[in-house]
Formats: sequence, C-alpha cells, structure tokens
Amino acid sequence: MSVRTRFAPSPTGSLHVGGVRTALFCLLHARRHGGRFLLRIEDTDRARSTEEAAEGILRDLRWLGLRWDEGPGAEQAGTGPYFQAQRLDLYNAVIDQLLASGHAYEAWDTHAELDAERAIASAAKLNFRYVRKVLDADTIAAYRAAGRTPVVRLAAPRHDLHVEDEILGQVTQTADELDDIVIRKADGFPTYHFAVVIDDYKMGVSLVLRGQEHLMNTHKHLGIYEALNWAPPKYAHLPLIANPDNTKMSKRDKAKTSREAARRAQVERKGDPKDWSWLAEATGRTVDDLAGFMAKQHDSIATAEAIAAFLKVKLPMIEVMDFRKGGYLPEALINYMALLGWSPGDDREVLPFDQMVAAWDLTRVNKTQAKFDAEKLAWMNGEYIKKVDLDTLTVAHTSYLDVAPTSPFAGMPAERRRAFLALYQPRIATFAELDEAARFFFVRPSTWDAKAVQKHLLADGGLERLALIRDALAALPEWSATDIQLTLDGLAASHDVKLGQIAQPLRVALTGTAVSPQIHDTLALLGRTESLDRLKAALSTHAR
Ligand code: GLU
Repeated sequence: MSVRTRFAPSPTGSLHVGGVRTALFCLLHARRHGGRFLLRIEDTDRARSTEEAAEGILRDLRWLGLRWDEGPGAEQAGTGPYFQAQRLDLYNAVIDQLLASGHAYEAWDTHAELDAERAIASAAKLNFRYVRKVLDADTIAAYRAAGRTPVVRLAAPRHDLHVEDEILGQVTQTADELDDIVIRKADGFPTYHFAVVIDDYKMGVSLVLRGQEHLMNTHKHLGIYEALNWAPPKYAHLPLIANPDNTKMSKRDKAKTSREAARRAQVERKGDPKDWSWLAEATGRTVDDLAGFMAKQHDSIATAEAIAAFLKVKLPMIEVMDFRKGGYLPEALINYMALLGWSPGDDREVLPFDQMVAAWDLTRVNKTQAKFDAEKLAWMNGEYIKKVDLDTLTVAHTSYLDVAPTSPFAGMPAERRRAFLALYQPRIATFAELDEAARFFFVRPSTWDAKAVQKHLLADGGLERLALIRDALAALPEWSATDIQLTLDGLAASHDVKLGQIAQPLRVALTGTAVSPQIHDTLALLGRTESLDRLKAALSTHAR
C-alpha cells in the first residue's frame, strides 16, 4: 500500500507549534517512503471554525515550506474536496448506509434530558454512558411535531477495542468504556469522530500521525471502521510538547502570563481586585471581555496580547506567527521542531530538510513528552542566519518585515537592508534582535552609557583623540569602509595608540554605548553626514 499521511487541522485558531510538529512529521514520513502528504481542513464545528483561521493555517504552512501534495490549492481527482464542510453528501451517504444496516440510529434526547441522565450517573459515581432508547412511531412523530431534531448515534461495539499504536504499542479500551457516540449532530454536520474516519478512508490515508491528545479518540474511530467493515489505517500518536517547567505547552499559556501580569499590576496600584475597568480602558477591550478574561471564562489571545502590550510583558511564543514576528527563519524553526520527540539517530542537530528525510524513522519517535526550549531554538536560528547566503537572508528579512511593521527597517530598500544584514549576519540570533542591535543607526544617542563615556571619552585623552579622528574623517574624499579603515589604522600608527583607543571613543560617540559592529563598517553604513554630525554632537556634549 502506498504511504499517504495527512495533516488535518481544525480552523478554530491559529497554527501552533504542536500542529507544526505534526504536519512536519507527516510530511517527513511521506517523503521518506516516496508517499504523499495531504492537507485537510476539519471545519465541521460550525460555531468555532472560521475562514480566517483556515486561511491563516494555509499561510503559515506555506511560510514554513511544508508543502502538501493534495489539499486546498492542490486538488487531486478523487480525494477532494479538502474542506469537510464541502463533503456533507459523502458523510450522509455513509450515515444512510449505517442506519440501514442497524449500526447507527437516530436519537431524540434534548440537552436537558441528557444532562439529567448525566447527573444520575455522577450521583451514583458511574461513568456516563448513553442509554439506547426504543421509541415507537407515535413518540417520534410527537418529538418531531415539538420541533426536536434527531442526532445520529453509532451503535458501539460490545467488545474491547485495541489500538496498535506504532509509537506507544497496544492501547486498549474495554467494552464498558465504549459509548454510542454521536456521528451526526442536530445541525446536520458530522462530528469530528465520524468525518475523520470517512475522510481518512476515502482519501486513502495509510498512517494517521497526530498528537497524543487524540489517542483515546482512536477507539471511537475503530468502532466506526468496524461498523463499516473497512480496514483502518495505521496509527501513531506523538508525545506532548511541554514547557520548561513540564506543564503542557498550550496557547492558554499566553492568557496565563497576561493574567498574572494584570494581577500584579492590580496589587501595585492597590486597586479593587474585581475592578478591571482601568485595564479595559487602557487596552481598548470592553469591560465585559476583560472581566471574563480575568475570571478565566475565556483565554482570548487578542485580550492577552492587548494586556501584554500595555503592561509591557513578553508572552510565550507558541503560534507560528509569534516566531515569524520574532524574526525566526522557517528552516530553523522546522529543524528545531524535528528534534522535539525525534532524533536522527546520531548527534546531528543542525540538519537541513533533505537530511531529515533521509534519516526519518518512525521508530525513533519518543514515547515521552518533549521539552520546548526557546533558547535552543534561538541558538539554532542564529546558526541558520550565519549559514544562509545573503540573498536568501534578504528575502527572509523581507518576509519578516511583512509582519513587523514597527521594525526600523520597514520601508528600507532591499539593497540597503542587505548591507545591514551582511554586517550583522554573524552577530544576531533573530531579525528582532537585529532591530534592537541596529537601532542606533536610526536614532541618535540621547542617553549615554555613563561608564563608557567616562572610560573612553573623559579618561585617557579620548575626547582629544576624537577631535583628531573627526578631522581626519572629514577630510576623506571618499566615504568607503576601506578608506575609513585605512585612515583609522593610520591614526593609530601615527599616534602610537592601539586601534581600540580609536574605535572605542568613536563607538561611544556614534552609538552612546561601547558596542557596535566593526567600526569602519559602522561608519560607512551610517554615512558621512550623519557620522560627522554625531561626532560633533558628542564632542560638544561631553566637552569639559
Ligand atoms: N482536527 C483535529 C485537530 O485539529 C485533528 C484530527 C486528527 O488528526 O485526527 O485537532
């Protein structure tokens, strides 16, 4: 059987690291075995799915370079459409078949009736299991007349079911744990459990590779395969991704961080712990939204981000867009994600995609949770920035600017950005770091590092030397890095001082600090007028 894997996100939010890793492993597995990788959008939850989220997921996957062979925009005869909401006829045909064979039945219970049954089960400390009801035609007619719409439930098998997981081994659910799950909701849409089975089968998926949170759903899916007498695919469930403190990494971590910051701020301002109107006003959110957020009624990322922006706290990076806005390269993120729960079998860490494919082996996926280490990712990103060629780096930087409108480089022509990138390539881990490191090019120093001023300008004849340097630079016929370097070397030699005694006063004058890239490159990039103006300003500001 040919290898076919699929990534099947629900468009209820943005793509996050867990999803990226699933998609990546599916793609690696397909590539390694000469198979195909499918993308399917699972939008049967009408209340929570949005078109915007679906588009965002496609955009993020494309940015990451995770190309699907079949899916939206890559239609293949016989397997599409790839949005579940467009496949209702297919699901209904199978449901009719199950109803006719007695493997499924209509159930007419209201939410209130089900709640009452659940309450009885929980009072008796029993797991709730749906009780099949035998209804006569008159009762059904009466329900219908009263406006009830039935759901369809699967008649669950009455025996134990075993998942033979490729990573975790055998996982059993006993007969008494299996419930008559709903397969078609009252709104006419299939449930996730049903649609996933029909689609995996109809799309010829050979291996379902997904997160461990779906492991205990798999028995439900096997029950459906059995009712249909279809052979199920293979299954492999990936270990969870954890934060450094071993808690499960989740988008909710953003809400958690913002909530804690808001509470601290409330304590500091000695405010009424229940009154969040000040924060609503400051963030432009409604009072209801904020009160609900603080009471943990919702974890809205928009609210969390608004609070974080106002209180100036850094939120954990979890969604793909966080990394893109943080100035990461997609190749580095992909490389890092590949090592979350998998290894190539040797100590290679920086390995490009084709090497990952060559080394891919499902049996080397760990059973236990993988820890997300943001520092290691930043290190890896720095390694990628160092090794790519300047053209590629400039293109990647352009893609960063598309989502980082407040970067000082926004609007700068690519040619000039390329010069900055050349200068900083060996020194930065992310493009966001470049924004900070290079900020002095865009704004003149207004505050001065007092220690640096003392050491390099006031002591050791720094200011006097700076005046000489300025005169020598001002006399240069051509403002190029080479000519500047020759001039500075010449000054060091003729005054019998070390190059540092020339470079450091210059750095302080130009940047307000003792740090910058190579001083001649820095001067060249800053330009003649701006450099000389800054030297003049420094000389008059610090003159004794
Ligand atoms: N749509 C499911 C989700 O987003 C994934 C289902 C699956 O991979 O089977 O979690």
